[in-house]
Amino acid sequence: MVCMVQYYLPVGMRYATLEERKQFYTSELNLEKVAQWFKGGLGKTKFAVIMGRHTKIFLEKYKEDAATTIIIDEYKNLGELRQQILDFLPEAVYYDRSVYDEKDRKIGQELAFDLDPENITCPIHGTLADKMKRMQGLSFCELELEMVKQEAVSLYEFLENRFSQVKAVYSGRGFHLHVLDLHVYQMNTQQREELAQQVKTAGFHIDEWVTSGEMRLIRLPWSLNGLVSRIVLPLTKKELESFDAVHDERCLPKFLRKKATS
Ligand SMILES: [Zn+2]
Repeated sequence: MVCMVQYYLPVGMRYATLEERKQFYTSELNLEKVAQWFKGGLGKTKFAVIMGRHTKIFLEKYKEDAATTIIIDEYKNLGELRQQILDFLPEAVYYDRSVYDEKDRKIGQELAFDLDPENITCPIHGTLADKMKRMQGLSFCELELEMVKQEAVSLYEFLENRFSQVKAVYSGRGFHLHVLDLHVYQMNTQQREELAQQVKTAGFHIDEWVTSGEMRLIRLPWSLNGLVSRIVLPLTKKELESFDAVHDERCLPKFLRKKATS
């Protein structure tokens, strides 16, 4: 046995197996809800998958590309997208927040904020630097998850005062806030960086790369986060306030729910 570096996660959160990914994407991925997220205006949305960068769980035939981000931009409809996902059986599915014209030129980008629990200073596990020293940069605990949720609620309020279309999503680890107002698609990099700085100055632990637009991929709502076996779940503000990521049935894939009841 190889000695694994200790990795801590809230109870019940673990990697999904290939079989579980297959089960999820065959019968649980809700394409109607995915379509709703894009409001039918799917247009030139690009998707992306990562098969096994973090989990090291991937199909043998894709060994060479296991850690690569693979863009899916040729599909006729969401049914075809599902087929391609089933072919890759990825640990993660994303979409590109940039929107493109017919000639594949970028014409705008959705604004988003990413709050992750590892950036939270935990009374038990310490700062991100402490966690990195122990090689636990991707780990988090229930306390950090609850603290990051409180931050997500405050950030929602902060954004609500400035924009009219704010959406919250539980990402499996932390939370994403999406701003879908039409005018934000036209914000340039400098404006995005300034806003990211404002938000950080206000005390939020966001990932600047996501807000500035440098990192344009974001987890696809309703997909499976294969690192923790949780469904990426859109939440209203009210739902967010009382959300319990460890026990909430709506973010539990069937393969975990069965075990819970047997
Ligand atoms: Zn902790």
